[in-house]
Amino acid sequence: MNNLIIAVDGYSSTGKSTFAKLIASKLGLIFLDSGAIYRAITLYALEHGLILSDGEIIKEKLKVSLEHVEVCFKINSESGKSETFLNGNNVELRIRLLDVSSNVSVISTIDFVRDYVDEILREYGVRGGVVADGRDIGTVVFPHAQLKIFMTADAKIRAQRRVDELLGRGEKADFDEIYNNVIERDYIDSHRDIAPLRKAEDAIELDNSYMTIEDQMVWLDHILKERFPDQVL
Ligand code: C5P
Repeated sequence: MNNLIIAVDGYSSTGKSTFAKLIASKLGLIFLDSGAIYRAITLYALEHGLILSDGEIIKEKLKVSLEHVEVCFKINSESGKSETFLNGNNVELRIRLLDVSSNVSVISTIDFVRDYVDEILREYGVRGGVVADGRDIGTVVFPHAQLKIFMTADAKIRAQRRVDELLGRGEKADFDEIYNNVIERDYIDSHRDIAPLRKAEDAIELDNSYMTIEDQMVWLDHILKERFPDQVL
């Protein structure tokens, strides 16, 4: 099972990362947070003045700058959690703030940005043994993944989860602002020309609006038994 590839795609704030991380630790696989790479590039663009105040992106400069952008994941030795690094700096928390969330979906419509991210993901996944979460993992990045999960949940419930997460970390969080961001990101992600968010034909849908994470792990156990009946998991 250690060369298995699992794709977890779906709408914003459906808890893909939380679920994917638990799947990874249950099965001994590496967790890949593809959204974190798009977020890190967005942070880089914000910090280098490549996104103007009206939202316009200076694409030519961004394209050249990507040669100087290094995004990678490292395991925090104390928490055992995977964290995102941008050019050597730990940006795991910074990339979750609203200025990044508000610009990331537009950055991720750009073809050369998507190529750059896909390359990083495929390098990590070259020998398999990964659980990757995102929007196009099962459709574009790893279309040969052995298990594809597509996550959905009611938009208001998703926004409230994001609010709780930010408040829990001591950040500010306004429900309406976050709800609008969730809706807007879903729209942009589903309507872009390149690699739009959609359920792969062979993906299994999971609506977790009224499920706890424990419920989801029970659901996963059923799916694993069904899909891989001969494996000890
Ligand atoms: O998953 P997360 O919400 O952190 O992703 C941030 C944004 O990155 C998404 O809203 C989406 O616009 C973009 N993204 C993407 N394709 C992926 C993962 C994320 O376009 N595979």
